[in-house]
Amino acid sequence: MGLGRSAQSARSERLVPRTSTADRVVQSICPYCAVGCGQRVYVKDEKVIQIEGDPDSPISRGRLCPKGSASEGLVNSPMREHKVRYRRPGAADWEELSLEQATEMIADRVIKAREETWEAETDDGEPLNRTLGMHFLGGATLDSEENYLIKKFFTALGALSIENQARI
Ligand code: SF4
Repeated sequence: MGLGRSAQSARSERLVPRTSTADRVVQSICPYCAVGCGQRVYVKDEKVIQIEGDPDSPISRGRLCPKGSASEGLVNSPMREHKVRYRRPGAADWEELSLEQATEMIADRVIKAREETWEAETDDGEPLNRTLGMHFLGGATLDSEENYLIKKFFTALGALSIENQARI
């Protein structure tokens, strides 16, 4: 019939899955878009070596689009930025900041925006206690716990516009 082993070449006989050397597999969600496809992350020596579609996901049933299929590159690309990069207003070049300095700068801006746009009450004197001067838009790379804390944090600041593009 020319099927099975009779059709197998010497090369295809030697082929092994690229995931076969992994120590363990971790279930995850694709970080890119709102579809939320399931992924299996293959780990060897505590490093991600491959990412494949998860057949157990009821959303994607093992499939990934070309972008999700390439997400191993997001983790291991030599071009991935690991430092904070900042371009000052009017500047042509990027500069490197420490995480502490960047966090301080963000905190200063949050406090300033909140102070300048705070609305304590309506024109009729009814309490408002809100700001329309800051908004939050999250992405699919945020997990449930991070989104929970972000929602709590921004609501506590008095912000109303709190969103996430993912609909998992
Ligand atoms: S695999 Fe593609 S469609 Fe699925 S979540 Fe990732 S980017 Fe979206």
